[in-house]
Amino acid sequence: AVNRTPERVFKVVFIGDSGVGKSSVIHRLCQDAFKSTFAATIGIDFQVKAMELEGQVIALQLWDTAGQERFRSITKQYFRKADGIVIVYDVTSAQSYLHLREWLDCIQEGDGDGAVKLLLGNKVDLLAPTKKAATEVAGSARAVEAQAAQRLADECSDSGKAAPALFFEVSAKSGKSVGEAFVKFA
Ligand code: GDP
Ligand code: MG
Repeated sequence: AVNRTPERVFKVVFIGDSGVGKSSVIHRLCQDAFKSTFAATIGIDFQVKAMELEGQVIALQLWDTAGQERFRSITKQYFRKADGIVIVYDVTSAQSYLHLREWLDCIQEGDGDGAVKLLLGNKVDLLAPTKKAATEVAGSARAVEAQAAQRLADECSDSGKAAPALFFEVSAKSGKSVGEAFVKFA
């Protein structure tokens, strides 16, 4: 844990379909734990993750959508002065990936173009090692190829006005790559 006062605080907002694991990723990052159900986060706006990077202490203020995941219900206010935007989909849900276009439009409408973006494909722990195994053992087939998501992230960075988009496949459940993704992002 980092106990020194942060030298800089960054506002980071989470978006993505309901159920992809946004609250779980925040919980993994801040509590290093996984819990299977979340009560509606009424009254809690954000959680803080302090990090030490190259000798500097910084804090990420992580804002959750608190269940307001319909595209038009995320307000401009939510994106206001965001330094970073974390866009989450579920690697076993093609739908959650297809909706990313609309989430990206949402960012534009909310003037979040200048923020640094992190694209996360969550729930990799659910993936069976091979397609064959997915049909034989308990495990889900991959619905989104990592290369496709990487291309989407690259497109975001190439569009000029947008800051670089990073991409990681993670698991809030096992913790895989969550720390790594946020260190890079920070
Ligand atoms: P949110 O609506 O985007 O905030 O999603 P939640 O964090 O509430 O997670 C939705 C559901 O997916 C819950 O049942 C979680 O336990 C589950 N979940 C979240 N992350 C993971 C993960 O990495 N792996 C697995 N297997 N389940 C996850
Ligand atoms: Mg949630």
